[in-house]
Amino acid sequence: MSQLVVMKFGGTSVEDAAAINRTAGIVRGRLGKGLTPIVVVSAMAKVTDQLLAAANAAGRGDRAGALAITARLRNRHLETACALVSAQVMAELGQWIETEFCSLDEVLRGLAAVGELTPRISDMVVSMGERLSSRMIAQAFRQRDLDAIYVDARQCIVTDGQHGKAVPQDALIEQRLKQHVLPYASAGQVCVMGGFIGATEKGVITTLGRGGSDFTAALLGGGLDAGAIEIWTDVNGIMTTDPRICPNALRVKTISFEEAAELAYFGAKVLHPATILPAVKKNIPVLVLNSRNPQNEGTRIISLAPHCRSPFKSIAAKRRLTIIDVVASRMLMSHGYLKAIFDVFDKHKCPVDMVSTSEVSVSLTVDSNDKLPDIAADLSQLADVKYEGRKALICMVGEDIRGQNGIAARVFQAIRHVNVRMISQGASEINMSFMIEDDDVEEEIRALHDEFFGDPDPEIFDVEALKESVR
Ligand code: ASP
Ligand code: MG
Repeated sequence: MSQLVVMKFGGTSVEDAAAINRTAGIVRGRLGKGLTPIVVVSAMAKVTDQLLAAANAAGRGDRAGALAITARLRNRHLETACALVSAQVMAELGQWIETEFCSLDEVLRGLAAVGELTPRISDMVVSMGERLSSRMIAQAFRQRDLDAIYVDARQCIVTDGQHGKAVPQDALIEQRLKQHVLPYASAGQVCVMGGFIGATEKGVITTLGRGGSDFTAALLGGGLDAGAIEIWTDVNGIMTTDPRICPNALRVKTISFEEAAELAYFGAKVLHPATILPAVKKNIPVLVLNSRNPQNEGTRIISLAPHCRSPFKSIAAKRRLTIIDVVASRMLMSHGYLKAIFDVFDKHKCPVDMVSTSEVSVSLTVDSNDKLPDIAADLSQLADVKYEGRKALICMVGEDIRGQNGIAARVFQAIRHVNVRMISQGASEINMSFMIEDDDVEEEIRALHDEFFGDPDPEIFDVEALKESVR
């Protein structure tokens, strides 16, 4: 059998008939290279959000609101299908789409009557997005002379019963893939499967968490020992920083898994690396590629990054943060102080991004949110509390800062004209973060970018693109 490549297409890569057409072309290109693609698709762009909104509306008893959303979704899917397949195929596909939406509406009516949305029903409703897109795309591929076959993700991705964030059962998945995917792939057929969804052993529909299609792709890649996993999205891969802020941002050609993970946490939205862990464990390279610019080589995520001349690979910013300062001299030397503080955040289910402590004070950063007054009120039972919004975290990531001297001096020299409120260099040793005013972010990112990417290593960064844009 020729080498398997898992190709995952995100929502924007299948958002309409034109995008699905491009996707078919990209898959054909891989076949032309003698590879056997296994295709994982997301729901069409925004569909998952809308299905969730419909489920929530129905759960609140807003039946009309829920049905209005599904009416729009029904039209969008019918129109897209109609643009993709012949009238003959449409007769059957259209009928199937109608039937699916009828049963979805049944569920929503029931929900509205009961007025309670359970996680199990929520999964059943949101799974529709991938169930629809995958079937439709498999048909569209066949109409474009690709020997495609639809594979039901619910038969392959076996999970536990934690709805909304189900945990895949690797051994069972491997078995199922041998049964439901491998025979077709060995025969040279292109399997098309919906991402994000799965089912328990008993067949109850589950989902893997938002953005879960990447996870599906990694499970497939890992389970089938694929040669590579391609994540097709709408950007040219991971960049040295946000190109909207810094026009001379460069594409990072190769990055380590650990670096990508740090970046994702701090807001680089390309993919969530925790979801590609099954691939990394098996040393399968993951590529992030742009379906609107398929010639571009994208970013390759591998377990161990090669050495790079510049200490950092990328600069990310997390904006709209609030800093909370907790000062309690009476707590000096007492234990249980930090626990008491974190218990407050736990109680309000408020995630903390960065922490820095001194003997008498603790500073924490959180996403600016409307629970802050309540959180501050609870904290003020323990200590003096101040909080201040409009802050941002800049996070600089690179394996090559490990053990190098003078890096921090260069960073803070580059941003010497602004006030740095908090600094942290985590245990990962590959990430240096600090907090500044949100208003300063863009200018300081440009300053840091000039300092560290002025003479980029051509092995790691795409310097060609920069030359072209200058020309
Ligand atoms: N459609 C799902 C979501 O929007 C899964 C995915 O796209 O990865 O979260
Ligand atoms: Mg996505």
